[in-house]
Amino acid sequence: MTGRVVVVGGGLAGLTAACDLADAGFRVTLLESRSRLGGATFSFRRDGLVVDNGQHVLLRCCTEYRALLERLGTTEGIDLQDRFRMPVLLADGRLTGLGRTSAPAPLHLVPGLARYGALSPADRMRVVRAAAALRLLDPDDPALDEQSFGDWLTRHGQNSATLSALWNLISVAALNCDAHEASLALAVTVFRTALLDRADGADIGVPRWPLEDLHVRPAEKYLIARGAEIRLRSAVRAVERGRSGFTVRLDDENLPADAVVVAAPPDAAARMCPDAAGVSAARLSGLGAAPIVNVHAVFERPVTDLPFAATVGSPAQWIFDRTEVAGLTEGQYLAVSLSAARTWLDAPAPVLREVFLAELGRLLPAAAATPCTQFFVTRERRATFRQAPGTGRLRPRPETRLPGLVLAGSWTATGWPDTMEGAVRSGHRAADLVRDRARAGGGAG
Ligand SMILES: Cc1cc2nc3c(=O)[nH]c(=O)nc-3n(C[C@H](O)[C@H](O)[C@H](O)COP(=O)(O)OP(=O)(O)OC[C@H]3O[C@@H](n4cnc5c(N)ncnc54)[C@H](O)[C@@H]3O)c2cc1C
Repeated sequence: MTGRVVVVGGGLAGLTAACDLADAGFRVTLLESRSRLGGATFSFRRDGLVVDNGQHVLLRCCTEYRALLERLGTTEGIDLQDRFRMPVLLADGRLTGLGRTSAPAPLHLVPGLARYGALSPADRMRVVRAAAALRLLDPDDPALDEQSFGDWLTRHGQNSATLSALWNLISVAALNCDAHEASLALAVTVFRTALLDRADGADIGVPRWPLEDLHVRPAEKYLIARGAEIRLRSAVRAVERGRSGFTVRLDDENLPADAVVVAAPPDAAARMCPDAAGVSAARLSGLGAAPIVNVHAVFERPVTDLPFAATVGSPAQWIFDRTEVAGLTEGQYLAVSLSAARTWLDAPAPVLREVFLAELGRLLPAAAATPCTQFFVTRERRATFRQAPGTGRLRPRPETRLPGLVLAGSWTATGWPDTMEGAVRSGHRAADLVRDRARAGGGAG
């Protein structure tokens, strides 16, 4: 095949589509508006540390993202649990947790839940009853997307204790919104796929390497080795339909293409696609945005042995040990990952420092007695779309009304939440559409 394909956007969706198309023999040009690849997943250097813009986590059920790492030869950059274990720190510093046995789903969770110290025995039974009902729901049922997960939980006997100690612990991390603001359809996808349908789906994978070494640079290398052209600082202003194929307009140049994959965020995608493509800006603006804030603290000496922990009854949500990933050789670097972080998004760093160093000191007593030598904050205002009820019908399919112009991105209709897994799946789907059209003789072939 010799067709020219332009991929717009160098996040995980664009990188995946570009890798697939380069492998299939297309002449691929990847255009990225920023001075770096990776999109929502990137690393930077700060005072001797390699820092990720935000902690990223995957689960064993993220099969396509894991397959991408395998293809890029970076699987060992992930520490994937052989069996799901989730340490949970309580507000008074006690450690409890959830975990699984080798029993088949859903029985694999029962012994762990029976010992879970964040819930009373009566509340554990409430959780079991709701989980049994949730397992019967079909995430593809459009009616589910119109309801809030929180309302459904309330109707199924859940109280504030089970919400904060269990449902929100996972919903906030996976959907970047509180259960009361989350689409029931997406919540069912998360809980069924990860926890209820298969015993090993929720085994947690935490990067051992910075995101840039895990997939950003390796994907760049993979593409260059296959003859793809990568252009940074190349913002696409418009994609226009020509007599045969498309013209991709940059500030100072026009590129011809037989097919175009638009893997930019929804607002940019709507702006650049021609009206005839039917990519509605008004509809996509309904997806909104939800922030994630990470608070980074380096301590003079190690303060915990835990590689990561969720918290209950604390604003700290999740804490990760980033010492090795960042290349720190003395002391300990902890990142506090705050999803659905509207409250903290615009808080000044000194305020965050006061709140979260006090929290770390409460949850991990050694932290209270250990000097913090570096403290900084990363803020992602538009980390994901707002995964609220009604967003299912707003997420577009990858095909546009113009054959040869396809969409990719974690915000498209992947059936998955806005995650690395969703982004990779969307990239594959977009590349498949381009390939199928070329095979059928419709351009790019
Ligand atoms: C702090 C944070 C924490 C997260 N945690 C997790 C996690 O733990 N697990 C998980 O699975 N997911 C997590 N996510 C979500 C995950 O990172 C995203 O879902 C995924 O990376 C999105 O990939 P994408 O390719 O669809 O979009 P993006 O990464 O947004 O890529 C789009 C690209 O298009 C480029 N672009 C925009 N306009 C133009 C233009 N006009 N021309 C050319 N290029 C353009 C952008 O610069 C960008 O590089 C997190 C996200 C953030 C921000």
